[in-house]
Amino acid sequence: MIATPDTQMNKKTSPESAYIHIPFCTHKCEFCDFAAFAGLIELEDQYCKILCHEIESRLANRAEPVSLRTIFYGGGTPGLIKPENIAMIHEQLLKYAAVKSAENPEIAMETTPHAITLKKAQAWLNIGINRLSIGIESLCDDELTAIGRDHTVAEAVTGVKLAQQAGFKNISIDFMYGLPTQTLKSWQITLEAGLSLADECPAIQHISAYGLEIAKNSPLLSRFPRDSASYPSDDLCVQMYEMLVAKLEQNNYQQYEVSNFARPGFRSEHNLTYWRNAPYFAFGVGAHRYVDGVRSANWRSLKKYMRTPLADEVSENIDQAMRVKEGIMLGLRLLEGIDLQVFRADYGIDLLETQRGEIEFLCREKLLDLSDNMLRITRQGIPISNSIIARLI
Ligand code: SF4
Repeated sequence: MIATPDTQMNKKTSPESAYIHIPFCTHKCEFCDFAAFAGLIELEDQYCKILCHEIESRLANRAEPVSLRTIFYGGGTPGLIKPENIAMIHEQLLKYAAVKSAENPEIAMETTPHAITLKKAQAWLNIGINRLSIGIESLCDDELTAIGRDHTVAEAVTGVKLAQQAGFKNISIDFMYGLPTQTLKSWQITLEAGLSLADECPAIQHISAYGLEIAKNSPLLSRFPRDSASYPSDDLCVQMYEMLVAKLEQNNYQQYEVSNFARPGFRSEHNLTYWRNAPYFAFGVGAHRYVDGVRSANWRSLKKYMRTPLADEVSENIDQAMRVKEGIMLGLRLLEGIDLQVFRADYGIDLLETQRGEIEFLCREKLLDLSDNMLRITRQGIPISNSIIARLI
């Protein structure tokens, strides 16, 4: 346990990032634990108006002017709703928040591939969206079926090509591994097909790949219980991860976070806000924010959110000890690691004093590396990063 100085106050900087949650999907994927709802698209117009009201209520009376560097429309499937509604929400946000245009602002949107049409993609660009994150998950049809996705490989490829044709120059494609029925060979097929798609579509500047995590009560468990032999073993998942890193780095996608890879200049600025433990606004059903030293979340129930969009379902004051823990946990996800001098300035803690024994041990085991005042997890340490971080907090 880390002792933290009582005098160090929770740093209260004004958020420069905003997250907007659009919860509608064509279909609820069986592994999905997000606030995402299928079959409720008829509520879209009403929901978007309520969201605009929430934006106004939360931003209109801020003591300091709001100025944003990143905006992220996440879901759910924001690409599913009418672009006019995204435009309305975006205009509302810009009424109360300036965008730091000198800092090359990132305005990103998530979508499933089959929600993309040429016309919609052009409308998104006209709104100002300059980055698209497309949930492809796998480029093997039987795996997409196994996890209950409702798109095909052909639709995934078409969606990416349409986005590029419309004019997007910054596309992320997102994959998952550790899926039921997945093998090392099928993962290799997905990665190689993704990389040859990237050869055809140079707008694919970013790739992320997350291991499957199954929530308690996930419908996926009824077809594939946790102990099912259909899931790759832990050892196989490590091999999949190693293959991911090797193949992407050979193709000039540099790893900058445990699960994220980018061509130079195309890291996800919005996600870096989270990993740097910086504050951010959030709006919409189930959305989590970190504002003025408090982490809070809106109702996750669509009905409750639409009735009381300003009510918190969860709210937690982040005290100094928690901030330090979060700073270590998030900072070590980044391959660049933690700059110990900056950490001391931000958190009032010298990790080399408070954690010297653990750091020296983990460095001897080659799980951590300490050089040039940067503390980072080694390649060898990444597959067990959770237990390394647990030793340090
Ligand atoms: S498309 Fe994405 S958000 Fe929607 S249900 Fe599937 S995984 Fe969840």
